[in-house]
Amino acid sequence: MLCHSSEELMAFVKEARSAAKEGKVAEYIPALAKANPNSLSIAIFYPDGKCISAGDIDKKMTLQSISKVISLALVLMDRGEKEVFSRVGMEPTGDPFHSIGKLETMSPAKPLNPMINAGALVVTHLLKGKSVEDRLQPLLSFIREMAGDNRIDYSEEVALSEYQSSFLNRALAYFLRQHGVIQEDVEELIDLYTKQCAIEMNCLELARIGMVFAMDGLDPMRGKQLMPPKVARICKTFMVTCGMYNASGEFAIKVGIPAKSGVSGGIMGAVPNTFGIGIFGPALNEKGNSAAGTKLLELLSKTYRLSMF
Ligand code: GLN
Repeated sequence: MLCHSSEELMAFVKEARSAAKEGKVAEYIPALAKANPNSLSIAIFYPDGKCISAGDIDKKMTLQSISKVISLALVLMDRGEKEVFSRVGMEPTGDPFHSIGKLETMSPAKPLNPMINAGALVVTHLLKGKSVEDRLQPLLSFIREMAGDNRIDYSEEVALSEYQSSFLNRALAYFLRQHGVIQEDVEELIDLYTKQCAIEMNCLELARIGMVFAMDGLDPMRGKQLMPPKVARICKTFMVTCGMYNASGEFAIKVGIPAKSGVSGGIMGAVPNTFGIGIFGPALNEKGNSAAGTKLLELLSKTYRLSMF
C-alpha cells in the first residue's frame, strides 16, 4: 500500500507540522537562521515520473549534509572504493556530526565515516580538479542530472555565510592535514566544502535524486544508469547507519528507510525500488534533524509500512 495522492500527503503534513514547535532553526550558519521554522514540504517521486507533493513546495533549501552522500557517490566512481576507504571508515560514531573527539583516538586519524563532517571533508578533498570551481562543476553536473534540472546551483549567500563562520570545520581540516589524511590548503577545501553544502533545490528535485538512489542509480525515465548499483548500495547503507547522525539507530527503528538529513532541515529518503522522498522543514530537533520532517516520515512509514526491516 502506497501513498497515492497529494491530498493524502497534505493530511500527514498538517499532522506533522505541529512537531516543528519542538525544534529550532540552525543558527551557527547565520544565513540558515532566516528560515521560517513552521514551513514544511514533502515530495514523493515515483520511478515512472509521477510525483505527489504537499506543503510549501516552491521553497528552496540548501543541501548541507545531504550533499555528503552525493559527493561520496561521485568520488567512489572517480577514485574507486579502495582509495576512498583507505582515507575514511565505514563505522557509525554515535557522536554529533561535527564532533572532533573520536578523531584523536583513531590511529591513523582516519574519520570513522563519510557522513560526519570530518569524513565528508576527506571526501570533498578527493573531488578531482585544479581549482575550486573545477572541482565543484562535476558535482553540480551529477546533481543536475539526477534531479533532472540544469538550473541547479549553489547559493552564494549561504556558502559565504558558512565560509565565514566555519571555525569547527577548519579545526577538523587542520587536524586532518596535520595527520596527512588530507594534503591540500585548508582554506581552499573549506571554500569547496561550503559551496557543496550550499547547493540549492526544492523538495521535488530532492525527491527525484532520492528516487535515483532508490533505483540503484538508474534514472528509469531516461533509461540512464547514473551510478553503478554498487555505489548506490554503499551510499544507501551509509544512509541507514549514519544518515541521520547520532539519531540513525532510533530512525532505523521508527522509520526504517535509507535517509540523509542536513542542517537546513532537508531530508532525502530512498525507499528501495519504490520511490524517492524530499522533505524540507527547517526547525531542527536536538540531534540536528528536521523535527517535523522526522515526524512526517514516522507517520508515513507507519501508515504505509515503508520500513525495509
Ligand atoms: N555545512 C554543514 C556543516 O558543515 C553541514 C552539516 C549538516 O548538515 N549536518 O556544518
